[in-house]
Amino acid sequence: MMRRFLRQPGGRLASIFAALLFAMSAVMGSYLYSACQKASADYTTLISDIVLAQQATPQLRAALEESSRLPDREHIQYIDYFISLSKQHLNNIQRSIERHRYLIADVEYLNTHFSELNSRLSDLRQQAQEAQQRPELRDPLQSMAIEIGGAQSWLYNQLLEKVRAISVQQRLVMQRLSIAVSALLVLMVSAAITLCLAVIYLQRQRNIMHRLMLTDELTGLYNRRHLVNVASAALIQAQRDRVPLSLLLLDLDHFKQINDNYGHPTGDEVLRQISQLLRQLSRPADTLARIGGEEFCLLMPSTTTHDALQAADRLRREVEVNTFRGIDLHTHPTVSIGVTTCQSGSLSFEQLYSFADKALYQAKALGRNRVESLLPPGDPLTYTEAQACTHILIRESSDS
Ligand code: GH3
Ligand code: MG
Ligand code: MG
Repeated sequence: MMRRFLRQPGGRLASIFAALLFAMSAVMGSYLYSACQKASADYTTLISDIVLAQQATPQLRAALEESSRLPDREHIQYIDYFISLSKQHLNNIQRSIERHRYLIADVEYLNTHFSELNSRLSDLRQQAQEAQQRPELRDPLQSMAIEIGGAQSWLYNQLLEKVRAISVQQRLVMQRLSIAVSALLVLMVSAAITLCLAVIYLQRQRNIMHRLMLTDELTGLYNRRHLVNVASAALIQAQRDRVPLSLLLLDLDHFKQINDNYGHPTGDEVLRQISQLLRQLSRPADTLARIGGEEFCLLMPSTTTHDALQAADRLRREVEVNTFRGIDLHTHPTVSIGVTTCQSGSLSFEQLYSFADKALYQAKALGRNRVESLLPPGDPLTYTEAQACTHILIRESSDS
C-alpha cells in the first residue's frame, strides 16, 4: 500500500515534502538547542563580582592615603586586608569567566593582564610589609598602588564592555529564538496536516480497493466472492434461527444474439440496465450479485420457497416487459430463473447453488423465460410440491 502511495504523483510529492520538513525540523532543532544554551547563560554573578572588585580599588587607595598620614601597624594591616580582598575578587572573576564558555573566547586577550595584575598585587603586598619597617618606601608604595588601581580599572572596564556586548547578543538570540520557535511550530503543523492528508488518501485508496474486491466493474453489483462470503454466513444464521433461505439463479436467454446483433458495447449497456432493474426490484435484505457473463444470483434470507418463486416470477416478468435502450422489441431479452430453498439441515453454499443451477437448467430445457425450482432432498416441501407451486405461478402470470 505504501509503495503504491509513493508511486502516485501526489504520494511522491507528499513524501518529498515530508522529507524536507523532517530535514528542516532537524536543522531548526539543532539551532534551537544552541540558541537556548546561549540565551540561558546567566551573567549576573560575573557582573556583581566585577562591581565588587571595582569598589575594592578606591578602598585600597583610601587605606594607603590613611597609612601615609598615620603609619602605624593597624593601618598597614588595613592595606594588607584590601590587597588580599582585591586578589580574591580577581580570582572570583576569573572563575566566573571560566563558567561562561561563550565569553571565554571573547576575553582571552585579557588573560595576560589578569596574571600580570595578580603578580603586581602580590608585589604590592610585599612592598606594604616592608614599608612598615622602612618609611622611605611609603611614597613609592603610594605611586605603585595608584598604578595598579589604574590597571585594575582598565581591566574591569574591558570586562564589563564585553559582558554588555554579549548581553546585547543574548537579546538578539532571544528574538531569533522566538521566531525560530514560531517557524518550527508552523513546520510541525504543516507536517501534521501532510500526515493527515496522506492517511486520508491511503484510507480512500483502501476503500476503493475494498470496493473493487467486492463489486463487479461493469454493473456495480456485488461479485461472486462477496456473494459466497455473505451466503455462507447467512446459511449458518438461517440454520441457527431455523428459518428458510432461498437462492435464485438468473441467466439471460439467448444473450449471445444481442451481442451478435448490436455489438458487445450495446450488450454491456443492456447488462447494466438489467442489473439496475434487478437491483430496484430486490429487497434491501437480499444480496444481488453478478456471478458470470449474463448470470446473476439473488440470495434471499428468511424467504420460503413460495415467496421466492413469487419474487422470481416478478423479476422474470419485469425483464420481459421492460424497455431497454439500444435494442429492438424482436430481440427483447428474457430471463430464466432457477430457485431453491434451504429449509432446514446444514447445507453449504456450493450444495445450495447446485440445486439452483439444476433448476435453471430445467427452466432452459423447458423453453426459457420461465421459473423452475428444485429443493434439497429431505426438506419439508418436496420437489413435486415446489414444481406444482411454480406451475401455478406461471399459469397465473400467463392468465393475467
Ligand atoms: P442461453 O439462453 O442458453 O443462456 O443462451 P446465451 O446466448 O445467453 O448463453 P451462452 O452461454 O451461449 O452465451 C452467453 C453470452 O453472453 C455470450 C457472451 O458473449 C455474452 N456475454 C458474457 N459476458 C458478457 C459481457 O460482459 N458483456 C457482453 N456484452 N456480453 C457478455
Ligand atoms: Mg450463461
Ligand atoms: Mg444465457
